Amino acid sequence: MTPTPRGLARRVLAPVLAGLLALTLTACAEEAPQGVEGKKTLRIGVKFDQPGIGQRTSNGEFEGFDIDVARYVAAYLGAEPDFVSITSGDRERLLRERKVDLVVASYSITPDRRLEVNFAGPYIIGHQDIMVRDDDADIHSVHDLRGKRLCKAGGSISWQRVTVELGIKARLVPATTYGECVEMLEAGRLDALTTDDVILAGFALRRPEAFRLVNAKFTDEKYGIGIHKDDIGGCEAVNRALTEMYQDGTAGKLLARWFQPTGLKTTGHVPQFEGCS
Ligand code: GLU
Repeated sequence: MTPTPRGLARRVLAPVLAGLLALTLTACAEEAPQGVEGKKTLRIGVKFDQPGIGQRTSNGEFEGFDIDVARYVAAYLGAEPDFVSITSGDRERLLRERKVDLVVASYSITPDRRLEVNFAGPYIIGHQDIMVRDDDADIHSVHDLRGKRLCKAGGSISWQRVTVELGIKARLVPATTYGECVEMLEAGRLDALTTDDVILAGFALRRPEAFRLVNAKFTDEKYGIGIHKDDIGGCEAVNRALTEMYQDGTAGKLLARWFQPTGLKTTGHVPQFEGCS
C-alpha cells in the first residue's frame, strides 16, 4: 500500500521532531550541568580558620594554599570560584547533597571517605604531627599522648589516627574546628593538638612564642579535592588541572609561598594520583 502524503509526513517528520526535542532537552540539561565541567561558577567548600591553608581574613576574603589551589582548578575549568566556609564534619554531606561542587579543605583521602565521595589528587602530602604549648616538657612522641587532653575536631581523621588506629588512650576534648582547638590549647584546656603538619605549622608560625611542633610525623595525609561520587568526568578534569598546576610551575610557587616561611619541607613533585572511581 502506498502511504498517503500525510502518513508519509508523519512517518518521516515524527522521528525528526523527536530528535529535535531530544537535542533541545540535552541543550537545556547542558545549561545547568550537575558535574563541575561547564559550570560558570563553582561553589568550593574551604576552611576559614586555618592560617596558611584556608583562612577568611577580616575583609571577608579567603587566603591560603588550599584557596590558591582551588582558584587554579576553577580557572582551569573556566569557572569563577565561590568560596563557602565549611568544617571537617560537613565535607561528605555537603558534597553528597550537592551544596558544594568541590571541597578543597585539608581533606585527607581515606578508604571510608572514598565510599561516599570522589577524590581528585592528592595535590599535597602532609604528615600528622603534634603541637604543644612552648613550655611543655612531657610530650615528645605520639605515645606520650596517653592520658593527655587531646582535641577531637569533629569529622576529622586526626584524633582517630591516635585513639582508634594506634589505640593510644588520650582524653578527647570535642571541638568543631582546628581554630577552636588552638584557642583551647592556649587557654590550657588541652595538653596537645594533633593534626597535619601543614596545618599546625601555619598556627605555630603566627604564634611562635606560644606553640611548637614536636616533629613526630607519624602518618601520610594525602590531600584530595572532594567531588560528588557520580562526577567521574569532573574528577578526571580536576586531575588534569592538578597535573598542569605542577607542570607549569604554579605548584612550586604556591608551596614556597605558603610553607617556606613555616620551615616545612615540601617536595615540588606531583604526587601519585589515586584515581577517580
Ligand atoms: N587531613 C585531616 C582530615 O582530613 C585533618 C584535617 C582536617 O580535618 O581538615 O581529617
